[in-house]
Amino acid sequence: MTITGSTPVAGVVGWPITHSLSPLLHNAWLAEAGLPGVYVAMGIDPARFPAFIESLRGGTLKGLNVTLPYKGQALIAAHRASRRANLAGAANLLVFQPDGTIFADNTDGEGLMAAFADQAPGFDPAAGPAVILGAGGAARGAAVAFLEAGAEVRVVNRTLSKARELADELGCLAYGLDQAADAFTDANALVNATSAALGGAVLDVPLAATPKTTVVMDMVYKPLMTPFLLEAQTLGRRTVDGLGMLIGQAKPSFTAFFGTEPPETVDVRALALKTLEP
Ligand code: NDP
Repeated sequence: MTITGSTPVAGVVGWPITHSLSPLLHNAWLAEAGLPGVYVAMGIDPARFPAFIESLRGGTLKGLNVTLPYKGQALIAAHRASRRANLAGAANLLVFQPDGTIFADNTDGEGLMAAFADQAPGFDPAAGPAVILGAGGAARGAAVAFLEAGAEVRVVNRTLSKARELADELGCLAYGLDQAADAFTDANALVNATSAALGGAVLDVPLAATPKTTVVMDMVYKPLMTPFLLEAQTLGRRTVDGLGMLIGQAKPSFTAFFGTEPPETVDVRALALKTLEP
């Protein structure tokens, strides 16, 4: 594609950002669709984030995906936000309107549900309790998605007070890690939304206390088959990986930036998997 003065630009902002798979996904879709457009990763250090977002008002960029550590600040920077972004208290998508305003959305929950639908065919989120491990931004988004789908949600967190805070706000149940087995009883879904693995820690929860029918998901996708998912598979549980969620949240973002749905004819998962290979 030739880049001209009218080529639409979108991107992803975070810190650090060089590991992001989002440029690979969006640019593969643009190329396949033959659409003009370019999607770039932008590493902005924390001191400059508010000024950076402010400078983009008016449509310099079509929009931005937002990743760690800026999802909360992105929501605050916006003039309007979707219901799901407000409920999640975070935005992973900012759209810069021609009138100078910024619209915030959160497509992470949609991505999570798309991953369950793709990788656990027949899964019904409303069929039973959903257990979310963690009480950070990602856990909050997952809790909102399951609540909106009609499920009872149980939040299990290392710091019980944070689980309680989230549970009180959203209307779900709170558990400490030492009560995980109670929360796992009759779980329909179990989602690891902790960052334990990023710090090299093994999340020590009694997966065997889940029913055989529980679908187990891990938001972490590096490695794709995390120790958590491996244990779930060994126990015979169906599993869903974090790459499915990443692709699922990117699809509605692409539509917001470039005005059309991403083409299904390019296998972006296969492209992403190549980069995740050790
Ligand atoms: P936060 O930092 O907001 O929250 C981290 C959570 O993990 C907290 O609840 C924290 O508990 C818990 N935690 C951290 N270390 C441990 C540990 N050793 N044992 C038990 N619990 C622990 O992070 P986010 O919510 O933003 O992200 C969570 C994960 O989700 C990250 O790995 C992120 O990469 C992933 N993610 C993936 C996405 C995808 O598209 N696949 C999208 C968004 C996020 P405590 O409160 O006690 O500190």
